Amino acid sequence: MTPQNHVFLPFTKPSIDEATIAAVGDVLRSGWITTGPKCTEFEKILSEYFGGRPVRCFSNGTATMEVALRVAGIGRGDEVITTPISWVSTSNVILGVGAKPVFVDVDPLTRNLDLNLVEAAITPQTKAIMPVYLSGLPVDIDRLYQIAHQHHLRVIEDAAQALGSMWRGDPIGSSRNIPSDLVSFSFQANKNVTTIEGGCLVMSTEAEAILAQKLRLQGVTRTGLDHIEVDVLGGKSNLTDINAVIGIHQIQQLPHFNNQRKELAKHYFKCFEKTNLVKGGLELPIPDFINSNWHMFQVVLPIEKLKRLGMSRSTIMQKLKDMNIGTGVHYPLITQFKLYKDLGYLPAHTPIAQRIGESILTLPLFPLMSNNDVERVVLGLETALLEV
Ligand SMILES: *Cc1c(COP(=O)(O)O)cnc(C)c1O
Repeated sequence: MTPQNHVFLPFTKPSIDEATIAAVGDVLRSGWITTGPKCTEFEKILSEYFGGRPVRCFSNGTATMEVALRVAGIGRGDEVITTPISWVSTSNVILGVGAKPVFVDVDPLTRNLDLNLVEAAITPQTKAIMPVYLSGLPVDIDRLYQIAHQHHLRVIEDAAQALGSMWRGDPIGSSRNIPSDLVSFSFQANKNVTTIEGGCLVMSTEAEAILAQKLRLQGVTRTGLDHIEVDVLGGKSNLTDINAVIGIHQIQQLPHFNNQRKELAKHYFKCFEKTNLVKGGLELPIPDFINSNWHMFQVVLPIEKLKRLGMSRSTIMQKLKDMNIGTGVHYPLITQFKLYKDLGYLPAHTPIAQRIGESILTLPLFPLMSNNDVERVVLGLETALLEV
């Protein structure tokens, strides 16, 4: 073992440069630290990136998705079709606005919502489809919108992980050459671009943007010097200028970050090719180097084999941890959570998602990693799965 092998390798780590740290200091010294000029500037940069569409920022991705649902007019009695393999916030916000999440099984290869199963889940109460682009791999956007248009449904894209992901040459969230409705991003610490916590919503009309802006701050509209009107129940989910200035610096580095991720992902495939792991039942992600932003590199463990040997995913995670390799789980099946079981959801209703939820494993991938680190992870996984 080289000395480097003793350094803990986390599954992800943000890249914050000195210029960003200095810019935060400047905002702190400026006298305006909450939502102000930096937030406006960040929104302008984002809007340009998304082809001139209206964009508003929020305090986190969860708040962004909830505002998106409210902008789409979704509430009590409505159903929203979504995936059970996501961060629980995706379905929590559906419950939060009083609507009902309808979980459709995932595709075993993409681990995203299986669009072949969506139409069968549509009822007269269905108002929207909320897909998630797990690890930044989009679903078939054309097919998604074809289904939505045919059934007069809104689409709220949970693109929390998909900043810089592409569809037919356009970034997810833009609408130049691709269909796009409401698209929600997160800038939480683990995402490809971070503001520490934060998010943004890409919309289609100024009217939607005005409503979103009201919803993030108590429903308030200000006119003139002293006039305030409140005509809708809003919350408090504005993004501060401290967070926004971090975003301004981060988004300039997005092409570089995503390129680093792509190169590391390619190296993972090259290293895996030299092993027998896939023959042994390990499932790799789809090698998409066109559309994915490689937010994560996720494998699916041969769970049945592990179980027969009295092992589980946590056995493998512990073995890797003992080798100073960090891993993550993104995500356990949402319908396995007590809150959802108590609401009557059955994990077995989405069998593929159920299997993936208990066997998916996130390997280290972040821009500051080296090819050497990738090799260490693959070797570590080979060692951990030796008897399997
Ligand atoms: C990160 C994430 C969210 C939530 O974003 P926050 O900024 O943490 O609120 C929602 N959905 C997915 C798929 C995510 O990865």
